[in-house]
Amino acid sequence: MEYKTNIDYRKEKLKELLHCIENNENEIVQALYDDFKKPAFEAIITETNYVISELKDTIKNIHNWAKPEKVFPSILNFPSTDYIYKEPYGKVLIIAPWNYPFQLALCPLVSAVAAGNQVVLKPSELTPKTSAIIAKIIGSIFHEKHVQVIEGGVETSQNLLSERWDYIFFTGSVPVGKIVAQAAAVHLTPVTLELGGKNPCIVDETANLKLAAKRIVWGKFVNAGQTCIAPDYILIQKDSKNKFVNFLKDEITAAYGTKPNESPDLARIVNTKNWKRLVSLIEPEKVIFGGQTDEASCYISPTLIDECNIDSLIMKDEIFGPLLPILSYESEADIHVIISKYEKPLSLYLFTTNDSFAKKIIQTYPFGGGCINDTVIHFANKRLPFGGVGHSGIGAYHGSLSFEVFSHRKGIVKKANWMDLSLRYAPYKNKLATIKKLLKWM
Ligand code: NAD
Repeated sequence: MEYKTNIDYRKEKLKELLHCIENNENEIVQALYDDFKKPAFEAIITETNYVISELKDTIKNIHNWAKPEKVFPSILNFPSTDYIYKEPYGKVLIIAPWNYPFQLALCPLVSAVAAGNQVVLKPSELTPKTSAIIAKIIGSIFHEKHVQVIEGGVETSQNLLSERWDYIFFTGSVPVGKIVAQAAAVHLTPVTLELGGKNPCIVDETANLKLAAKRIVWGKFVNAGQTCIAPDYILIQKDSKNKFVNFLKDEITAAYGTKPNESPDLARIVNTKNWKRLVSLIEPEKVIFGGQTDEASCYISPTLIDECNIDSLIMKDEIFGPLLPILSYESEADIHVIISKYEKPLSLYLFTTNDSFAKKIIQTYPFGGGCINDTVIHFANKRLPFGGVGHSGIGAYHGSLSFEVFSHRKGIVKKANWMDLSLRYAPYKNKLATIKKLLKWM
């Protein structure tokens, strides 16, 4: 059944959601800790606070984003006034992953609601505590015909995908993204697919190596490497490698101590299945730092892997864990061979002080988005579109763009009646030259 909402109502509901999240922040942070020991600092910065900020921004701007946008009319239509109306798609399905299970479920939900849609959200079953608290919060605020959380695993997800939706927003892996795209195609349902990839991180000889190491260690090991935009592997200029690797070791120790398993700041791998997958990627003879693992606690220490073979298992797919392969290059051709081996990644990072090299890399390789001289932080700017390209995804969101994602932009020409140029009407004789002249002006 259709559940239409006006903008004031949506705004009120989003305000309620904001207050509810603010009031329950400790509980949410605890759920994230219970699910995979996500450190409170990371939970607040990358999950609750991120959603709070998204909500505040949406509440502030919703009237502005939702109002019809006046655009310059075409002279061919003179006299007219032209608008873009923002129309909700209708019923939206959001399927979320486990790695940032609160933020990646709630942010699309906020925008889908703001744009006036009915929403069904399926959080990840792999973070059950967070899934439960999301269901509780949403259930306490929204009418179930407006926004509903359906908890469950693959089967639930597949059942939902077999229904007809007006928009599907999926965040998760590439293989499941393909399943979602196929299900959507049955009804020609538009999709956003926020997927993953193998994100290169290039460090050249002109880079500030110490600072690069610090920023890479943070971006790689935050959330224990389980971040879609984490640097997947390093490409370091050969002559700078030894110095750089020492900086990496220093920075890991500075962040997590000599016993990272005792650090309160390192999350755990989400479950035994993923832990086993990651452990199977480690070739012990290639480990130059870290490499400690514990199955019972799903622990893997921040690990540096030296010069693994490009055809080895760890270089096959997205790693999605605290293992960092370091490959050295001598020439730009070496970089090209490696990067071109993979599908277009979600991110690319480049550490250099050589502007023309930076420009060249950014213009040569397609990827979702990235940073020069940092990692991950492009996610934090609401004014940048966030999304992949090719296998790393379809579509982008964040900030006002998220509102647009969940709105059909309906173009309307409001024609005036006080004049009616006869140029377009048959008979066409002798009208072509005038039309051509008009077209030249445009
Ligand atoms: P996943 O694809 O396994 O699961 C995502 C969601 O899909 C879950 O809700 C799950 O229940 C559901 N699902 C799983 N298998 C399914 C199937 N066969 N049919 C239908 N639904 C199914 O992904 P994940 O393990 O939760 O998350 C990790 C992946 O997500 C990584 O590849 C990562 O790069 C990617 N990711 C991307 C972004 C982004 O913004 N681009 C953000 C976070 C994670």
